[in-house]
Amino acid sequence: SSFEQSGLRPILLENIKRSGYTTPTPVQKYAIPIVMNNRDLMACAQTGSGKTAAFLLPVIHSLLEQNVAAASYSSCQEPACVVVSPTRELAMQIYNEARKFSNTSVIRAVVAYGGTSVNHQSNMLQKGCHILVATPGRLLDFVEKGKVSFGQCKYFVLDEADRMLDMGFQGDIDRMINHPSMPPKGTRHTLMFSATFPEQIQRLAANYLNEYLFLTV
Ligand code: AMP
Repeated sequence: SSFEQSGLRPILLENIKRSGYTTPTPVQKYAIPIVMNNRDLMACAQTGSGKTAAFLLPVIHSLLEQNVAAASYSSCQEPACVVVSPTRELAMQIYNEARKFSNTSVIRAVVAYGGTSVNHQSNMLQKGCHILVATPGRLLDFVEKGKVSFGQCKYFVLDEADRMLDMGFQGDIDRMINHPSMPPKGTRHTLMFSATFPEQIQRLAANYLNEYLFLTV
Protein backbone atom coordinates (compact mmCIF):
# COMPACT_ATOMS: atom_id res chain seq x y z
CA SER A 1 0.00 0.00 0.00
CA SER A 2 1.15 3.53 -0.70
CA PHE A 3 0.17 7.07 0.20
CA GLU A 4 -1.02 7.54 -3.40
CA GLN A 5 -3.55 4.71 -2.99
CA SER A 6 -4.87 6.12 0.26
CA GLY A 7 -7.20 8.63 -1.35
CA LEU A 8 -5.60 11.54 0.49
CA ARG A 9 -5.96 14.83 -1.36
CA PRO A 10 -3.18 15.85 -3.79
CA ILE A 11 -2.06 18.73 -1.58
CA LEU A 12 -1.39 16.21 1.21
CA LEU A 13 0.44 13.85 -1.13
CA GLU A 14 2.68 16.74 -2.15
CA ASN A 15 3.40 17.66 1.46
CA ILE A 16 4.06 14.01 2.34
CA LYS A 17 6.53 13.80 -0.53
CA ARG A 18 8.19 17.01 0.62
CA SER A 19 8.59 15.45 4.09
CA GLY A 20 10.55 12.62 2.51
CA TYR A 21 8.01 9.94 3.50
CA THR A 22 7.73 7.32 0.78
CA THR A 23 5.81 4.45 2.42
CA PRO A 24 3.13 4.52 5.13
CA THR A 25 4.16 2.92 8.41
CA PRO A 26 1.82 0.15 9.71
CA VAL A 27 -0.15 2.49 12.01
CA GLN A 28 -0.56 4.93 9.10
CA LYS A 29 -1.65 2.16 6.73
CA TYR A 30 -4.46 1.08 9.06
CA ALA A 31 -5.42 4.29 10.85
CA ILE A 32 -5.69 6.60 7.82
CA PRO A 33 -8.66 4.76 6.25
CA ILE A 34 -10.34 4.34 9.66
CA VAL A 35 -10.23 8.08 10.31
CA MET A 36 -11.17 8.91 6.70
CA ASN A 37 -14.25 6.71 7.24
CA ASN A 38 -15.14 8.83 10.27
CA ARG A 39 -14.77 6.03 12.81
CA ASP A 40 -13.54 6.58 16.34
CA LEU A 41 -10.22 4.89 17.00
CA MET A 42 -8.24 3.48 19.89
CA ALA A 43 -4.72 2.77 18.64
CA CYS A 44 -1.91 1.15 20.58
CA ALA A 45 1.25 2.52 19.03
CA GLN A 46 4.66 3.53 20.33
CA THR A 47 6.47 6.78 19.75
CA GLY A 48 8.42 6.33 16.55
CA SER A 49 5.63 4.35 14.89
CA GLY A 50 4.51 7.31 12.81
CA LYS A 51 1.32 7.76 14.85
CA THR A 52 1.36 11.55 14.52
CA ALA A 53 0.94 11.48 10.74
CA ALA A 54 -1.53 8.60 11.20
CA PHE A 55 -4.06 11.03 12.69
CA LEU A 56 -2.95 14.36 11.21
CA LEU A 57 -3.13 13.28 7.56
CA PRO A 58 -6.72 11.99 7.58
CA VAL A 59 -7.89 14.84 9.85
CA ILE A 60 -6.44 17.50 7.51
CA HIS A 61 -7.86 15.59 4.53
CA SER A 62 -11.32 15.53 6.08
CA LEU A 63 -11.24 19.20 7.06
CA LEU A 64 -10.34 20.10 3.46
CA GLU A 65 -13.11 17.79 2.17
CA GLN A 66 -15.55 19.62 4.44
CA ASN A 67 -14.39 22.90 2.94
CA VAL A 68 -13.43 24.38 6.26
CA ALA A 69 -13.48 28.19 6.16
CA ALA A 70 -10.17 30.05 6.09
CA ALA A 71 -8.85 31.05 9.51
CA SER A 72 -10.28 34.28 10.78
CA TYR A 73 -9.37 36.67 13.56
CA SER A 74 -11.44 36.20 16.71
CA SER A 75 -10.73 36.48 20.42
CA CYS A 76 -12.46 33.11 20.88
CA GLN A 77 -11.30 30.34 18.58
CA GLU A 78 -13.29 27.19 17.89
CA PRO A 79 -10.74 24.74 16.45
CA ALA A 80 -12.11 21.90 14.31
CA CYS A 81 -9.42 19.62 15.72
CA VAL A 82 -7.99 19.60 19.22
CA VAL A 83 -4.95 17.42 19.92
CA VAL A 84 -4.04 16.94 23.58
CA SER A 85 -0.51 15.86 24.37
CA PRO A 86 1.22 15.28 27.73
CA THR A 87 4.38 17.33 27.20
CA ARG A 88 5.48 20.50 25.48
CA GLU A 89 8.12 18.60 23.48
CA LEU A 90 5.53 16.21 22.11
CA ALA A 91 3.10 19.09 21.45
CA MET A 92 5.82 20.89 19.47
CA GLN A 93 6.54 17.76 17.40
CA ILE A 94 2.87 17.32 16.58
CA TYR A 95 2.54 21.02 15.75
CA ASN A 96 5.56 20.88 13.43
CA GLU A 97 4.07 17.88 11.60
CA ALA A 98 0.72 19.66 11.37
CA ARG A 99 2.45 22.68 9.82
CA LYS A 100 4.29 20.51 7.30
CA PHE A 101 1.18 18.65 6.20
CA SER A 102 -1.08 21.72 6.05
CA ASN A 103 1.50 23.74 4.13
CA THR A 104 -0.07 25.71 1.23
CA SER A 105 -3.59 24.86 2.44
CA VAL A 106 -6.09 27.04 4.33
CA ILE A 107 -5.53 24.98 7.48
CA ARG A 108 -3.87 26.85 10.32
CA ALA A 109 -2.30 25.01 13.26
CA VAL A 110 -1.44 26.58 16.62
CA VAL A 111 0.42 25.14 19.61
CA ALA A 112 -0.17 25.97 23.28
CA TYR A 113 1.73 24.60 26.26
CA GLY A 114 2.42 25.56 29.84
CA GLY A 115 5.55 26.88 31.48
CA THR A 116 5.79 29.92 29.25
CA SER A 117 3.99 33.23 28.82
CA VAL A 118 0.44 33.05 27.45
CA ASN A 119 0.78 36.27 25.41
CA HIS A 120 2.49 34.92 22.32
CA GLN A 121 0.33 31.78 22.20
CA SER A 122 -2.77 33.89 22.74
CA ASN A 123 -1.83 36.16 19.82
CA MET A 124 -1.17 33.17 17.56
CA LEU A 125 -4.55 31.72 18.55
CA GLN A 126 -6.49 34.91 17.84
CA LYS A 127 -5.21 34.96 14.27
CA GLY A 128 -7.24 31.83 13.60
CA CYS A 129 -6.92 28.17 14.47
CA HIS A 130 -8.22 24.98 12.85
CA ILE A 131 -5.91 22.55 14.63
CA LEU A 132 -4.95 23.30 18.21
CA VAL A 133 -2.18 21.16 19.68
CA ALA A 134 -1.96 21.68 23.44
CA THR A 135 -0.95 20.35 26.80
CA PRO A 136 -3.89 19.85 29.21
CA GLY A 137 -3.34 22.67 31.71
CA ARG A 138 -2.75 25.43 29.17
CA LEU A 139 -5.65 24.24 27.04
CA LEU A 140 -8.07 24.39 29.99
CA ASP A 141 -6.64 27.80 30.87
CA PHE A 142 -7.56 29.13 27.43
CA VAL A 143 -10.96 27.45 27.57
CA GLU A 144 -11.74 28.94 30.98
CA LYS A 145 -10.63 32.40 29.84
CA GLY A 146 -13.01 32.14 26.85
CA LYS A 147 -10.19 32.15 24.30
CA VAL A 148 -10.92 28.63 23.09
CA SER A 149 -14.21 26.80 22.79
CA PHE A 150 -14.79 23.14 21.89
CA GLY A 151 -18.01 24.14 20.12
CA GLN A 152 -16.72 23.25 16.62
CA CYS A 153 -14.49 20.38 17.72
CA LYS A 154 -14.99 17.68 15.07
CA TYR A 155 -11.83 15.75 15.98
CA PHE A 156 -10.65 15.31 19.55
CA VAL A 157 -7.31 13.49 19.75
CA LEU A 158 -5.74 12.21 22.95
CA ASP A 159 -2.11 11.38 22.26
CA GLU A 160 0.00 9.22 24.60
CA ALA A 161 -3.05 8.68 26.78
CA ASP A 162 -1.20 6.33 29.15
CA ARG A 163 1.47 8.94 29.76
CA MET A 164 -1.17 11.58 30.42
CA LEU A 165 -2.70 9.38 33.12
CA ASP A 166 0.76 8.72 34.61
CA MET A 167 1.29 12.48 34.76
CA GLY A 168 -1.98 12.97 36.64
CA PHE A 169 -4.02 14.51 33.83
CA GLN A 170 -7.10 12.28 34.25
CA GLY A 171 -9.04 15.10 35.91
CA ASP A 172 -8.05 17.59 33.19
CA ILE A 173 -9.10 15.19 30.44
CA ASP A 174 -12.47 14.67 32.16
CA ARG A 175 -12.94 18.42 32.34
CA MET A 176 -12.34 18.77 28.60
CA ILE A 177 -14.62 15.89 27.65
CA ASN A 178 -17.35 17.09 30.02
CA HIS A 179 -17.01 20.78 29.14
CA PRO A 180 -20.39 22.28 28.16
CA SER A 181 -18.97 23.39 24.79
CA MET A 182 -17.68 19.88 23.90
CA PRO A 183 -19.88 18.07 21.36
CA PRO A 184 -21.14 14.77 22.83
CA LYS A 185 -19.46 11.53 21.75
CA GLY A 186 -20.94 10.32 18.48
CA THR A 187 -21.21 13.91 17.24
CA ARG A 188 -17.46 14.49 17.49
CA HIS A 189 -14.79 12.05 16.33
CA THR A 190 -12.50 10.90 19.10
CA LEU A 191 -9.11 9.31 18.52
CA MET A 192 -6.95 7.88 21.29
CA PHE A 193 -3.33 6.81 21.04
CA SER A 194 -1.52 4.96 23.79
CA ALA A 195 1.58 2.82 23.98
CA THR A 196 -0.10 0.50 26.48
CA PHE A 197 -3.70 -0.56 27.06
CA PRO A 198 -4.19 -1.11 30.80
CA GLU A 199 -7.62 -1.19 32.46
CA GLN A 200 -7.63 2.57 33.07
CA ILE A 201 -7.12 3.29 29.37
CA GLN A 202 -9.76 0.72 28.42
CA ARG A 203 -12.18 2.56 30.68
CA LEU A 204 -11.32 5.93 29.09
CA ALA A 205 -11.84 4.43 25.65
CA ALA A 206 -15.20 2.97 26.66
CA ASN A 207 -16.34 6.28 28.10
CA TYR A 208 -15.02 8.71 25.49
CA LEU A 209 -15.17 6.82 22.20
CA ASN A 210 -18.22 5.93 20.15
CA GLU A 211 -18.30 2.38 18.69
CA TYR A 212 -14.59 2.56 18.22
CA LEU A 213 -12.19 0.44 16.23
CA PHE A 214 -9.22 -0.99 18.08
CA LEU A 215 -5.87 -1.04 16.38
CA THR A 216 -2.64 -2.44 17.69
CA VAL A 217 0.61 -2.30 15.76
P1 AMP B 1 5.92 9.59 15.51
O1 AMP B 1 5.73 8.15 15.92
O2 AMP B 1 4.67 10.18 14.92
O3 AMP B 1 6.49 10.42 16.60
O4 AMP B 1 6.97 9.61 14.29
C1 AMP B 1 8.28 9.16 14.44
C2 AMP B 1 9.22 9.68 13.35
O5 AMP B 1 9.00 9.02 12.12
C3 AMP B 1 9.06 11.15 13.07
O6 AMP B 1 10.34 11.74 13.02
C4 AMP B 1 8.40 11.21 11.71
O7 AMP B 1 8.80 12.36 11.00
C5 AMP B 1 8.87 9.93 11.05
N1 AMP B 1 7.87 9.36 10.11
C6 AMP B 1 6.55 9.25 10.30
N2 AMP B 1 5.94 8.62 9.28
C7 AMP B 1 6.91 8.32 8.39
C8 AMP B 1 6.92 7.66 7.11
N3 AMP B 1 5.79 7.18 6.55
N4 AMP B 1 8.11 7.52 6.48
C9 AMP B 1 9.23 7.99 7.05
N5 AMP B 1 9.30 8.61 8.24
C10 AMP B 1 8.15 8.78 8.92
